[in-house]
Amino acid sequence: MDNVRILDKEFKLFISEKQIQEAVERMASRMNKELKGQKIFLIGILNGCFMFAADLIRNLDLDCTITFLKLASYQGTSSTGKVKRLIGLNEDIKDQVVVVLEDIVDTGITLDFIQKQLRGYEPAEIKLATLLYKPEACRQDVSLDYVGIEIPDDFVVGYGLDYNGYGRNLRQIYTVIE
Ligand code: 5GP
Repeated sequence: MDNVRILDKEFKLFISEKQIQEAVERMASRMNKELKGQKIFLIGILNGCFMFAADLIRNLDLDCTITFLKLASYQGTSSTGKVKRLIGLNEDIKDQVVVVLEDIVDTGITLDFIQKQLRGYEPAEIKLATLLYKPEACRQDVSLDYVGIEIPDDFVVGYGLDYNGYGRNLRQIYTVIE
């Protein structure tokens, strides 16, 4: 399927299933080398990371546990209006080596926020892993430890990533046709 229509937009094939799997395997193999012998606490950020996390963990040859967190935003009373909160962390990550799994890093604001929140739980170390990274869009000084594929600053869907809730089921990654 080279083109797909989701709601009101047309998307064209951008990254094949094979390229995605190769990128995931490359990331896992680096983690296997660099984190060897350590106990790893994986934290996937929902919703987008679920497919990436499932494929990555199957390629990990490490002692690891995994949990999934969600960013909830609600109208607050602060001047910015929107307040975000990381929800779902019931495990103790103090002194643990944490690897955060993101589907995509765009401006970097989300990951920067997540990292700051997680630091409050005093893990031994926080590593950041993202399948996709848009270097041209990134405005935050986030230091990414594991990057799957660098992409241009265009909107993409598929392999867990959505357009207004749809398209997450696609096995390949598609980019919007303007
Ligand atoms: P950031 O805070 O880095 O700008 O954005 C992070 C979040 O925005 C991602 O976790 C993802 O949910 C969403 N996002 C950013 N770029 C894209 C994109 O190209 N496609 C989709 N589907 N979501 C995106």
